[in-house]
Amino acid sequence: MPDVTIPADLLPADGRFGSGPTKVRPEALEALARRATDFMGTSHRQMPVKLVVAEMRNGIAELLRAPDGYEIICGNGGSTGFWDAAVFGLIENKSHHLSFGEFGSKFGKAVSMAPHLEEPSVSASDMGTHPPLEPVHGVDAICYTHNETSTGVMLDPARVSTGDQLMMVDATSAAGGLMFDANATDVYYFAPQKALASDGGLWIALVSPAAVERIEQIAASGRYIPPSLNLKTALDNSRKDQTYNTPALATVFLTAQTVNWFNENGGLSWSAGRSATSAETLYSWASASDAAEPFVQIESQRSKVVATIDFDESIDADTLDGVLRANGILDVNGYRKLGRNQLRIGMFPAIDPADTRALTACLDYCIERLG
Ligand SMILES: *Cc1c(COP(=O)(O)O)cnc(C)c1O
Repeated sequence: MPDVTIPADLLPADGRFGSGPTKVRPEALEALARRATDFMGTSHRQMPVKLVVAEMRNGIAELLRAPDGYEIICGNGGSTGFWDAAVFGLIENKSHHLSFGEFGSKFGKAVSMAPHLEEPSVSASDMGTHPPLEPVHGVDAICYTHNETSTGVMLDPARVSTGDQLMMVDATSAAGGLMFDANATDVYYFAPQKALASDGGLWIALVSPAAVERIEQIAASGRYIPPSLNLKTALDNSRKDQTYNTPALATVFLTAQTVNWFNENGGLSWSAGRSATSAETLYSWASASDAAEPFVQIESQRSKVVATIDFDESIDADTLDGVLRANGILDVNGYRKLGRNQLRIGMFPAIDPADTRALTACLDYCIERLG
């Protein structure tokens, strides 16, 4: 590993630029420490915890501009757990999946393994692009990822469903960091350890009245549903500001902290605006650099929350990542399975856009010494 010491005055104030788990604000952790004895380590069936669950649910509904009749439900297991819950409780017979990265394809595989569902249809595209979002016939759910965390491609939600088809959107790395129209979605689900600057373990979903109807109808149909994956149970508990089994209380608390911070400052346009500012900084830097360029060629598909930056052969991205890590700039390695000479950089709202600017100066400093 080359011995490169970045001057202290170039370094960002906070070196966490990972794509998940992401930077948790020290202010939120301090607020949690202040609740060390009347919240942490207390019953999730009692008021102090239920009030924070309510704060989180109401705050998210406000942040995401939940249309009339939409609800926020939550449960344990993260987004991966939610896929399994959806396999049992949201997809009736057959789903369609857009596959353009690791996460969208994983959900498609989980559906494909389910003996009670038909083989899903899939439209795929080359890594670094997304397939078109188009109407599909003969399916009861259309599923795609708002932001592919693995490749740095975003797809703006639009409603292409007909009849009672559901639009199901994996917003794990998008929710809170990207603008969108909630009316274009029926199930907008995520885990809070990405754009919501919290910790893992929980799934949260904004669900439309049509999605609630689907959940109730399947639950009543007699289909076998494992109790911990039962979305009707999650719906009933969420309405009481509880979860079916014990949630990670710190995750719930930190999520509420972030959401309050976003809402107090102006809501989604403010939080997504911070990501957009970081994205503008980073992509302009990469486009101007001789050694780097944005991986995603189509500008409208270039993620504003996760930047994938390719390097030319003069720079080994893994070495660059190692040098940055030695200087306290963490988790900017590329997505392994993509196998490119690439860095992947989180630009989530909790990351100060000034720190993203500082990161570009650090990159220049290292590139000059490594190239
Ligand atoms: C991280 C991620 C997931 C998986 O989330 P877990 O909470 O770890 O299960 C799913 N989808 C997307 C788009 C992600 O970024």
